[in-house]
Amino acid sequence: MIKANDPSLKSWIEVPEDCDFPIQNLPFGIFKTQSSNPRVGVAIGDQVLDLSSLNKLGFLDDFKIDDSVFSNQYLNDFITLGKPLCRSLRQRISNLLNINNPELRDNKNAQYKVLNFMTNVQMQMPVKVGDYTDFYSSIDHATNVGKMFRDPANALLPNWKHMPIGYHGRASSIIVSGTPFHRPKGQTKPADSDLPVFGPCKLLDFELETAFIIGRETKFGESVSTDEASNYIFGMALFNDWSARDIQTWEYVPLGPFLAKSFASTISPWIVTLDALEPFRTAGYKQEPKVLPYLEYNGEKNIDINLEVSIQPENGSENIVCRSNYKFMYWTMEQQLAHHTSNGCNINIGDLMASGTISGPTPDSYGSMLELAWKGTKPLKLNDNTERKFINDNDTVIMRGYCEKEGVRVGFGEATGKVLKAL
Ligand code: CA
Repeated sequence: MIKANDPSLKSWIEVPEDCDFPIQNLPFGIFKTQSSNPRVGVAIGDQVLDLSSLNKLGFLDDFKIDDSVFSNQYLNDFITLGKPLCRSLRQRISNLLNINNPELRDNKNAQYKVLNFMTNVQMQMPVKVGDYTDFYSSIDHATNVGKMFRDPANALLPNWKHMPIGYHGRASSIIVSGTPFHRPKGQTKPADSDLPVFGPCKLLDFELETAFIIGRETKFGESVSTDEASNYIFGMALFNDWSARDIQTWEYVPLGPFLAKSFASTISPWIVTLDALEPFRTAGYKQEPKVLPYLEYNGEKNIDINLEVSIQPENGSENIVCRSNYKFMYWTMEQQLAHHTSNGCNINIGDLMASGTISGPTPDSYGSMLELAWKGTKPLKLNDNTERKFINDNDTVIMRGYCEKEGVRVGFGEATGKVLKAL
């Protein structure tokens, strides 16, 4: 048996070179077809492997998993099986798709039942998100925002290098990639007026983020160490934390983000397991000043994930406006989780924790329009000769991400969202 992450593995399903879903990835998601209810699937090449049908046909008999886990609207019950079992199942799927294994390769009748082309399925919300937390852990993003709105010489607030700053977001309005939404309305205060007005947001922005999904619960009162943290993380997805900058400016004092953030956040449909991402771990920032003991960590905990953002106007072509990388995060997921649970607050399976906007050190790697167009002072020119300071009605914002090493590309697919005009 060859380990699921082995770069030499090949599948009998053809996988194009630039595809996000080779046999080394095997991310989990929820899909439905015209004739089937929502169910758990695994992405392989341009196809989706139906785990419910695979189980019914006996290919997963060793695991004795009830069909209700796979014929399910969400991954939560699957994740509840626990990391060791999910890991063994991913290994079994790897074996079944291995080019040298005839079990499924030579059984056309079974293939017909368990494989669906991606173009024929509708991806659903992958998890039922209980609680959603958003961090603020990219040093370049925090520095840029500090420079713009506070003091360029003291851009980072005094607490920033001592803990991963975060806030509690809104889980109910997290939407799966491909779901359009209407421009939010809210209260803003025009610069030339003493009184606020209510109406459509004028400064709608994206935030390039990743999210991790909690895979194991803690008890009320329990804390998780940075060493144990990865056992509590099931996997990651791309995340667009849409933001209404004009609403944010007026409302955020003194308690922080509220309605400027809660109207919509877009998640990509495939959860890439932390296991599949392990080969792409890389060293993080040297953290100076030294962090408190509960935030210290061992080993390489950042991950080298290429990230990019495109804007596609209505009837236009895509414009890549940002190329960033998850490795630019100052605080790691493990530190975020250790900090989150340090006060005894319990976490649940399916909780979602987002990275915060991931900006890199160069202007083309900034993860929001606020930074890319520097508060509207440097508009971006698109290839249809229009300009953007923020996001227009009928624009589609597309986020993509992938790791690449030793000829293996492990990707996330897309987090796509179209902005419709305000209702
Ligand atoms: Ca955010």
